[in-house]
Amino acid sequence: MRTITCNLNTMKKINRLRVMNLLNTEGPLSRIKLTKKSKLDGKTVTSLTKELIGENLVSSVGFESSSGGRCPELLDINADAKQCIGLYMDGEKILGVLSNLKGKILTKKQFPLKAGASGKTVIDVFKKSILPLAEQAESSKLLGIGIAVQGIMDANMEKVIQSTLFPSMEGMNLKKILRKIYHVPIEIEDVTRSKALAEKWFGVAKKIDNFILLDMGMGIGCAIFAEGHIHYGEDMSSGELGHTIVNEGGDLCHCGHRGCLETVASLEVLEKRIKKELALKSISLKEIIEMLHEENTTVKTIVCEIGHYIGLSISNVVNVIHPSHIILGGSLAGLGNILFDSIDDALRRFTMPSFYNNLKLVPAKFGDEGASLGAATLLLRKIFEMEELM
Ligand SMILES: [Zn+2]
Repeated sequence: MRTITCNLNTMKKINRLRVMNLLNTEGPLSRIKLTKKSKLDGKTVTSLTKELIGENLVSSVGFESSSGGRCPELLDINADAKQCIGLYMDGEKILGVLSNLKGKILTKKQFPLKAGASGKTVIDVFKKSILPLAEQAESSKLLGIGIAVQGIMDANMEKVIQSTLFPSMEGMNLKKILRKIYHVPIEIEDVTRSKALAEKWFGVAKKIDNFILLDMGMGIGCAIFAEGHIHYGEDMSSGELGHTIVNEGGDLCHCGHRGCLETVASLEVLEKRIKKELALKSISLKEIIEMLHEENTTVKTIVCEIGHYIGLSISNVVNVIHPSHIILGGSLAGLGNILFDSIDDALRRFTMPSFYNNLKLVPAKFGDEGASLGAATLLLRKIFEMEELM
């Protein structure tokens, strides 16, 4: 009897999540359309929506136009029902956002944090970043704090195992420290996966179940969504695209191997090669983008070569997992069509023709704030995701 009760409860939760997900991706929807799209019966949808309206998670937003008879009421996620704080750290800053249930950024704050800072400084800047966001948040609505961390975390996503940008954080149980200070749920995720989550929930991948997000910056990482779910891999450490070999016996990579993608394609490689070719002492990404607009042929050639290697590397992943979309993100995405076209050209040459014909390359909706927003969405899982029930 107990087992039957559990199964009925689980089924009810799954149906609730189905309704919430549909409203998130396709809302506002009438009960009739919710019934049709969810493949649930009308009675179940009426009962679930009543419950969700009672919890303030769903609200009425008006009426659908009708050619005859009563106009059906439109329901949507109640964006202001909950709030989440999300933070992203890189080698220059911590960028924090306060978001609502529909991924709208209500407040955004940024504080400098230089790579190599001490553990104490990192925590101090976290506190400094969280304070104005927490002050803006309504405490009764706040679901918690999500953090997007660059580096390798332990399998529980609590302790930092390795961080090239902040070695002082290695061994630090970030989750425990922050939970002690704030007494709210704390969730931690890898930066690239956070960006992919933001695109899936609120960006260009809302209705896409099989995609790869390419995060092209100081390193080249990727996050994989397969059949609507993020692929974590063993020890939550999937996505090291930058360490796939594209040049056997090539330059030594910091991972210890030779010829990894990151030895020929990254922001660092781009800046280094342009400085060398044009005999410049320094160059920024902004200046490189300007030079591309001025059609500087040297810069264009280097960007095309980098795109070629990224395309070559990702084509092997495409052949294995067959995504429908590749989302291009990270600071290098600012190089625009010249980079995108060279990635596309390599994909055309190296992926299975039938896979390439259906493959779409799309720029990410979010920039850096995508990682912060993705971190904030970690707190929304209890409301929207199936995994919580498995
Ligand atoms: Zn490597």
